[in-house]
Amino acid sequence: MKQSIARILSLCAMTVLTGVTQNTFAAELVKVGAGSDADLKLYVIDCGVLLYNNPNKFGYKKEDLKETNLSNGCYLIVDPGKGTLLWDTGVIPDNLWKGDGISPKKFYAEGTRPLKEQLAEIGYQPDDIKYVAVANQYWDHISNLYQFANDTWLTSKITRDKLLSSNAPEHTDPALFSSLKDTKTITIPDDKNYDVFGDGSIIIIPTPGHTPDHHSLLVNLKRTGPIIISGDLWHYTKDFETNFTQNNDDRPTTLLSRARILQLAKKINANIWIPHDYIQFSQLKKSPEYYN
Ligand SMILES: [Zn+2]
Repeated sequence: MKQSIARILSLCAMTVLTGVTQNTFAAELVKVGAGSDADLKLYVIDCGVLLYNNPNKFGYKKEDLKETNLSNGCYLIVDPGKGTLLWDTGVIPDNLWKGDGISPKKFYAEGTRPLKEQLAEIGYQPDDIKYVAVANQYWDHISNLYQFANDTWLTSKITRDKLLSSNAPEHTDPALFSSLKDTKTITIPDDKNYDVFGDGSIIIIPTPGHTPDHHSLLVNLKRTGPIIISGDLWHYTKDFETNFTQNNDDRPTTLLSRARILQLAKKINANIWIPHDYIQFSQLKKSPEYYN
């Protein structure tokens, strides 16, 4: 992984990093430290799989990739003193589970276990979660948001407006989002970092391009070291080599966001986790085990 990052960084050195917005982002990067005193636990939750035979949408032929299916990660970060953040809520809404042991399917996605059940296994009910946030507005990240309507929603204004609009994201049930109308909300910026607990331990980083409201998450773990959960900035680890940007709303902006995250990862010696890379994701410890 580190070698891949170094190789891409040298390529990205050629990427144009000028412009007001990029300078703003660069200033933000300098503020991000490499750690804090927080003793966090990071649980990786398997929220399903996107059954994906044809990666043309991402610029690949089937034979270019060892695995074309995409994983679907959710992440619970626990600070023993300050509370919890649930990052991403999965692709299959829990209300599709019928209790018959059959994994529900929705379009090309399939569930593994209900999110609520996986949280209960480690001692959390939806109302116990302090903050909930998602990487972007698409169906594979937001499907269980409705269960966390009594928590505090850290959200881009773009995401909130989209979910609560009459034109909700495709493949979603807009009725499920109506519960979020009165949810306590903290608006997170799309052009500046947001420090979740105010101590540098968990930072939400705007990484637009895939969508304008796309964000990544930096988690500073004491023992494991810093992890950057990069949302849909990359979909496959193969993208580190190719830098393909086919499945993005704004491809030049995606390249700038990637360059910034690679620069940050190098600076603080962070590992980058790609929630949709099936092979990388399958190698991570899953809840109830955790990283700390
Ligand atoms: Zn996604």
